[in-house]
Amino acid sequence: MIPAAPAPLHPAPTHAAPPRWQQLWRDAVRDPRELLSMLGLDAAGLGISEDAAAQFPLRVPRGFVARMRHGDRHDPLLRQVLPLDDEMRPMPGFTLDAVGDAAAKAGHGVIRKYRGRALLIATGSCAIHCRYCFRRHFPYAEETAAAAGWRDAVATIRNDTSIDEVILSGGDPWSLATPKLAELTDALAAVPHLRRLRVHTRLPVVLPERVDDALVQWLAALPWPVTVVLHANHAREFDADVDAALARLRGTGALLLNQAVLLRGVNDSVDALAALSERGHAAGVLPYYLHQLDRVQGAAHFEVPDETALRLHRELAARVSGYLVPKLVREVAGDPGKRPL
Ligand code: SF4
Repeated sequence: MIPAAPAPLHPAPTHAAPPRWQQLWRDAVRDPRELLSMLGLDAAGLGISEDAAAQFPLRVPRGFVARMRHGDRHDPLLRQVLPLDDEMRPMPGFTLDAVGDAAAKAGHGVIRKYRGRALLIATGSCAIHCRYCFRRHFPYAEETAAAAGWRDAVATIRNDTSIDEVILSGGDPWSLATPKLAELTDALAAVPHLRRLRVHTRLPVVLPERVDDALVQWLAALPWPVTVVLHANHAREFDADVDAALARLRGTGALLLNQAVLLRGVNDSVDALAALSERGHAAGVLPYYLHQLDRVQGAAHFEVPDETALRLHRELAARVSGYLVPKLVREVAGDPGKRPL
C-alpha cells in the first residue's frame, strides 16, 4: 500500500528476515554455464569468454532470465549479459573511462559535469551486470560516496550553492538497503539549495521486487520532487511484475522516465525501438534518452554507426507519437550537456 500521507524517512527497525529482494539479489545467476543451461543453449559457437567473465563477472537476476526466450541464442536480453570473447579484443578509441568521469570528480563520490547538477556515486553494486556498461572499469572501491559514510559527498554538495539537483547514481543506488538510503537523504535534506532529486536505476526493471513497502514509503516522504530515470533497452524487459513495481513508484508522485542505450543485436531496429517506447508508455514511463554507446573498452561489438542511429531515429519519429521519441544523444567528455546527434 502506498501511504496517503508522508511516512517517516526511517522505517521502524525490524528483526525480521532480510527483505525478499535481497534474497533474490543473492540468488542471481553468476555462472554462464548455468545461464545457458536454463535457456536450453549449448555454449559451443557462442564465443563465451572466461576472461571477460573474470574481468566483469556475469550477474543476472533469475526473474530477468525468465524473460529471455528459451533456445534463442540471439535473445536481446541474453546478449546484454553474456560475457563474450569480443570484449577482450582491444579496439582503438575504446577506453577505460569513456565519459571522462575521472576528470569530473568534484569530491569523494561526487561527479560534477553539468551546471546545477551533481552526480552522487552512491554504490558500486548492481543487480545485473550489463556488458556495455560505461562504468564497468570504474574504481568503485575508492570512489563510492557510501564508503565515507556520506560525510564527504554531502559536504561537497553543501559547499557548492550552485548545485540544485542531486542525481543518485552508481552502480545502482537502489541496491543500497532502504535505511541506508534514508540516512543519505536525511543528510541531503539539510542542504538548503537542493530543489530536485533524481535517481538513476535499473532495479525496478531487472528486479522489480526491490520496489517494496519500505522503498515506496521512503520515496513518498522525500522533501523534493523526484524523477526516477529507469534503464530498459528492450520491450521484453517489461512484464507484469515490472508493471506493478512501476505503478507503485508512480503512486509516490515520482516522474518516471527511461533511458536506453542503442545496442547492436539488442534494439537496433525501428520495430524494437517503437516497441520499447510503446511498452514503456503502457507502464507509465516516458522515453527520455536513447544513448549512442559510450566507447568503453570491451563494448565495441555493441556499437551502432551514427548514420544507422540517425536513420533509426528518423524512422521512429515517423512511426510513433512525438512524446514517444527519445532524444538521440552522445555523452562527450567536457561538454556542458548531452550532445544531440
Ligand atoms: S545497471 Fe547500469 S550501472 Fe549497473 S551494470 Fe547495468 S548499465 Fe552499468
